[in-house]
Amino acid sequence: MTQQPGSAEGPASADEDGAAPDQVRAELAGWVGQHWDPDMALRAWRELLLESGWAAPSWPRRWHGRGLPAWSDEVVASELVRLGAVGIPVGSGTWLAAPTILAHGSDDVRDRLLRPILTGEQTWCQLFSEPGAGSDLAGLSTSAVLDGDTWIINGQKVWNTSAHHADMGMLLARTDRDVPKHQGITYFALPMKQPGVEVRQLRQMNFHASFNEVFLTDARIPRDNVIGEVGQGWTAALTTLAYERRFSALQRPRYSPAPGRALDEARAEADDHFATYSWYPQRAGRPDLVIEHARSAGVTGDPVIRQAIARLLTLHRVSSWTAERARVARALGARPGAEGSIGKLAASNLARESARVHAMIAGAQGLLTGPDSALGGVIAEVLMSVPGQSIAGGTDEIQKNILAEKVLGLPGEVRVDRDIPFSQIKHRG
Ligand SMILES: Cc1cc2nc3c(=O)[nH]c(=O)nc-3n(C[C@H](O)[C@H](O)[C@H](O)COP(=O)(O)OP(=O)(O)OC[C@H]3O[C@@H](n4cnc5c(N)ncnc54)[C@H](O)[C@@H]3O)c2cc1C
Repeated sequence: MTQQPGSAEGPASADEDGAAPDQVRAELAGWVGQHWDPDMALRAWRELLLESGWAAPSWPRRWHGRGLPAWSDEVVASELVRLGAVGIPVGSGTWLAAPTILAHGSDDVRDRLLRPILTGEQTWCQLFSEPGAGSDLAGLSTSAVLDGDTWIINGQKVWNTSAHHADMGMLLARTDRDVPKHQGITYFALPMKQPGVEVRQLRQMNFHASFNEVFLTDARIPRDNVIGEVGQGWTAALTTLAYERRFSALQRPRYSPAPGRALDEARAEADDHFATYSWYPQRAGRPDLVIEHARSAGVTGDPVIRQAIARLLTLHRVSSWTAERARVARALGARPGAEGSIGKLAASNLARESARVHAMIAGAQGLLTGPDSALGGVIAEVLMSVPGQSIAGGTDEIQKNILAEKVLGLPGEVRVDRDIPFSQIKHRG
């Protein structure tokens, strides 16, 4: 059975006649008033959230939800923080793995894997890309062979964000080489802490080290840790990729600064998680800083720079409308669609344009790091980080292909290796 987010096994009271956000907020506030205690352990608080269905309100009751409309997830997450409490963790587990498991996993997989994601007990990373398979993800060659009750995995993954501290991996591996490349892939939940999994951190040109190479040598996965059907992993992978293109999924919750064990643990969890992503704002180009930067450099009277700033801020405003359109579509229950690709392209253009304007303002100074450099080294980090924006989650060219083929209905790219068995694709041997 495939159960989509938003469908209910049994409606909660707030949903009976089609709940309104204010009703949901009021019911949540009443429940929080009765149950929230900042001195309890974070895990214990999250168990209560799961039991009550406030953990994932748009999900079915059986999987920690209340069957409320899709908008309720966002409303409840922000309301919990506004009330001084804490919601479910932020990260690849809740952002990517959980919706994929909910959409494609068997009931057994949902029962076992969703709970520890929502309590924060297990963090996840995405093990998709390989040295020979990035844009051409379906060309991946990591293999999975069933041996009794265990899948044995061999191969190499790369660019895996947060793999160095993840408990579980969303792994794509090939289980059948004798069918066309999209058909022989299976989506697994891989336990990361085991001898067959070696994670090596990579150092980036902006000096951060947020992603890794992952070497899999006879790594083991229990037979039932398959998400979707064996050989049907591509469909589930498309779900993960669509969620990955959603906007603003990585926003840090603004937890109350008040004392209390649950709040301390939530703040520490967020610090730990967001350490990996500390350069992501710079990756987006920091258009929010251009005016401050121009003022501090004393160039606000320069007509060329003024024009460039006006053009950039216009682009920023227009992209935020696209992001808002995507947010509203999601809130109304639409699954991630073409607006994800449009938004991702807009974000790349904005980041590049922003880096160009910062470079115009800073001149050669922009390359310096340290406290005396442009905005304390932030501009140098912008210039070194922006290229990642148009690569992560599918490159600009791939987004353009998706839009051309899936939205505009233009003729498809020539793909000579699409319909022949994977084993017959020449360069893959
Ligand atoms: C910050 C960051 C975080 C990442 N995190 C993860 C992660 O957690 N897990 C994970 O699995 N991966 C991750 N990635 C990897 C990312 O998904 C890949 O880098 C991306 O899909 C591109 O693949 P590639 O690097 O192999 O480039 P290639 O696919 O080799 O592309 C090289 C160039 O060729 C172009 N190109 C390729 N095919 C076509 C085509 N058909 N038409 C037109 N142009 C084409 C591309 O646009 C690109 O310019 C991350 C990458 C970044 C930058």
